[in-house]
Amino acid sequence: MIATTCRNVAYFDNAATSWPKPPQVAEAMARFLNESACSPGRALHCMAGQATQLVNDTRSAVAGVIGAEDASRVILTSGATDALNIAIKGVINARLIAHKHIKPHVVFTVLEHNAISRPINELTQLGLIDSTVVECDEEGFVDVDAMLEATNERTVLVCCTHASNAIGSIQPVAEIGARLRSERPDALFCVDGAQTTGALAVDVDALNADLFAFTGHKSLLGPTGVGGLFVGERAYDPNSESPGMLPLRQGGTAGDSVSPVTPRQLPMYFEAGTPNTLGMAGLLAAIENAPARALEHEREMVRRLTEHLRGLPGVRLVGPSDIKKRTASVSFVVEGRSCPDIAGLLDERYNIAVRTGLHCAPNAHRAMGTFPDGTVRLSPGAYTTVEELDRVLAALSDLLAG
Ligand code: PLP
Repeated sequence: MIATTCRNVAYFDNAATSWPKPPQVAEAMARFLNESACSPGRALHCMAGQATQLVNDTRSAVAGVIGAEDASRVILTSGATDALNIAIKGVINARLIAHKHIKPHVVFTVLEHNAISRPINELTQLGLIDSTVVECDEEGFVDVDAMLEATNERTVLVCCTHASNAIGSIQPVAEIGARLRSERPDALFCVDGAQTTGALAVDVDALNADLFAFTGHKSLLGPTGVGGLFVGERAYDPNSESPGMLPLRQGGTAGDSVSPVTPRQLPMYFEAGTPNTLGMAGLLAAIENAPARALEHEREMVRRLTEHLRGLPGVRLVGPSDIKKRTASVSFVVEGRSCPDIAGLLDERYNIAVRTGLHCAPNAHRAMGTFPDGTVRLSPGAYTTVEELDRVLAALSDLLAG
């Protein structure tokens, strides 16, 4: 039981998890739990039919959000971490088996979340792959040429975040994907869309992404524990002798229990086990009830926040200056002040929730000169009110200019 209730919080931690959610999210989850929360795809009774319908509807809805024409190519996962592990290890395991004598090579960037860098670092430390990390410029953008130059004839996978969760910089992923397809056609391109799905217009084809990971609990405004992975045709072909990707888990599927191994059909090949249908009920309701004009709203919040912060003594904004090239993660440091102190005071004195530290992206901070303390990160969201923003601006003036 949660002992205390947090009241009247100005919540500026939406880049971690968005809050509040559309009211329909909790309603849909409660309704599903009370009326039809049973296993999808496995039984013929009425409640199972409803749960199956929910999974199919959620899959179609998220496919619509990311521009995936074939919804069966959207694997539903427990979030972006799960999706990225399925993508990275799935590709590497398949290559290690298909080409036993060639060590696969992977490229990723300094901006990656630990959900990408840790699986790759682990495989590198185990000696199973080689990997190369690409740097970014002083505003947190990777260079398309540098990404291509980091590849070689053994490169099987290139991973890049769509936008940095630490500093908000939106990366030139469409160009990277296009160049890879023409210059390194054997390398698959994996994009981490955890920070952009729901926040920006996303189209997996236009981004030239072979694999695109997303999560439900950030800008899609759904609950935690649900997300997905788009698996493009270049990444996985169910009819090919060598599948291109192997699943991380094997087990029970929605249909075809006879096969001694997990059936190669999409999406079930990558979805063994009973899924988080409760989370899907919330995610579907979130997508169906997402507030209009969230992007414009967030950009206006970011404009006011960054302008204000620039005027305060000792503040260094970390990340892009152009509002159109960034998401709503506003990171800053203050000369002579510790980030945890600032975040702690914002919480204790002003009831304002922000995030401080490395934001699970330590290399981004090494690149931006903010390692090991990290930054204070303010991330407004779709439901942040003008009154809440005014409260933050006043609190920052009080704390930092006084
Ligand atoms: N990638 C990025 C860029 C993120 O910001 C996050 C979440 O913080 C993740 C991956 C992991 O997402 P999830 O919490 O859905 O596992």
